[in-house]
Amino acid sequence: MYKKCTNFANVKGSYFRLEDEKQFIQAVSGEGFIVILDNANGDEVHPKCSLVKLESFSKKVVENQGSTGCYFWCGDYDYALHTFGARDCAFCMR
Ligand SMILES: [Zn+2]
Repeated sequence: MYKKCTNFANVKGSYFRLEDEKQFIQAVSGEGFIVILDNANGDEVHPKCSLVKLESFSKKVVENQGSTGCYFWCGDYDYALHTFGARDCAFCMR
């Protein structure tokens, strides 16, 4: 697994790692934000964003077992930026 992903244990009510497609679908259809930690493209926080796709999640998390990165759900945008040391998505926050 991408090393940075292992630094974050789930914090109830604040954030948790998305482990499977069912969790992903629930996370993107509800409130909150998606944090993508990615060893090639950097770490970003997304509100509802067309870059956050089930297909990409399946590849990164299910097929590649998190070796290049992982996904978290987080309830608060600023908290996500701060906690994960991530940046705004350049696409959806432009
Ligand atoms: Zn985005």
